[in-house]
Amino acid sequence: MKVVYTDNNATTMVAPEVVEAMLPYFREYYGNPSSMHTFGGQVAKKIDTARQQVAELIGANPEEIVFTSCGTESDNAAIWGILRANPHKRHIVTSRVEHPAVYNLCKYLAQSGYHVTELGVDSNGMLNLNELADAVREDTAIVSIMYANNETGVIFPIEEIGSIVKQKGSILHTDAVQAVGKIPLDLSKSTIDLLTLSGHKLHAPKGVGALFVRKGITFSPFIIGGHQEKNRRGGTENVPSIIGLGKACELAKKFMSEENTRVKQLRDKLENEMLKRAPDPRVNGHRTQRLPNTTNLSFEFVEGEAILLLLNEKGICASSGSACTSGSLEPSHVLRAMGVPFTAVHGSIRLSLSRYNTMDDVDYIIEHLPPILRRLREISPYGRETKVKEQTERISARA
Ligand code: PLP
Repeated sequence: MKVVYTDNNATTMVAPEVVEAMLPYFREYYGNPSSMHTFGGQVAKKIDTARQQVAELIGANPEEIVFTSCGTESDNAAIWGILRANPHKRHIVTSRVEHPAVYNLCKYLAQSGYHVTELGVDSNGMLNLNELADAVREDTAIVSIMYANNETGVIFPIEEIGSIVKQKGSILHTDAVQAVGKIPLDLSKSTIDLLTLSGHKLHAPKGVGALFVRKGITFSPFIIGGHQEKNRRGGTENVPSIIGLGKACELAKKFMSEENTRVKQLRDKLENEMLKRAPDPRVNGHRTQRLPNTTNLSFEFVEGEAILLLLNEKGICASSGSACTSGSLEPSHVLRAMGVPFTAVHGSIRLSLSRYNTMDDVDYIIEHLPPILRRLREISPYGRETKVKEQTERISARA
């Protein structure tokens, strides 16, 4: 069956070059990078190369990169790492639209006696920076605000956020899982103290991530064990995946500007055509402050899950929100925080593209999605009501 994969904010295809780079580390170079012998030592050297590749993509120093098992671990490590290093500070500032890796951790911390301030967003999904300035206090250990939203693609003005956090003397962590590899980042000229990234969102495998910890930031390890990662993360390294992440970062750096233009053109065509052809469409999220690959669309009075099922029958992979929440019928906490009407939240889908999508993919979706929406509207009680109303109006206009 034809597969048109437009669920890249959930996960991406591992790039063929990444697979090639990883294979020798399963077959031949299986030594432990901590071993004293040369066989292990050569693996340690390759890990250093990967560290360099990751650092280069985000303008960091290699020593500031800590490899982890995923974005969720990096988020947890950042927040716990700062809280443990600053036990006298018990206040955290975050936003209402974070990924569950931060959102649910902050809920847990609030239940465990920490004070958490959750900042709201406006209808475009943007933060009010005055509210942020008012929220950061003397006892604020950490401010954790995402770089780009996984559901809408909205990009926060993270450097402005960082300046406010710095003025108030606190520490900024950003979950940049959806930003790294999609838009340029330069941590050498940045107010960010800690940054989370995840391999499987940028064409590396699942189960590997990294945390940037700026030099000079006092940070306690989240996973306590061996001396790996300069005592910042215990556990034998996932060598092939770390090598894969390094390669994926090298590719992302090489192709970013060219991809950004092309992928954005595809996304814009898809979005504009849906706005023309679909019944009652709306785009959720700021139209310009947004990742180039993401569109979050709502169609009133249809069920997002029903759209996904019918798209699936055509081989089109999309999502109705965060991959972690799809499968449950809980309406998206991100769209609710933006004040999207209930009927539109339920009829929302996210299409997220990557360097492997083509204009043919976009044309295929444009061909199949509008009839699916019309079909669903016809069988929804609202659809029938509208039809009767339209017929009545037509008849009375004729009379
Ligand atoms: N943060 C954001 C913004 C994400 O989109 C995701 C994954 O969807 C994560 C964190 C979690 O990353 P991982 O799946 O690597 O744990």
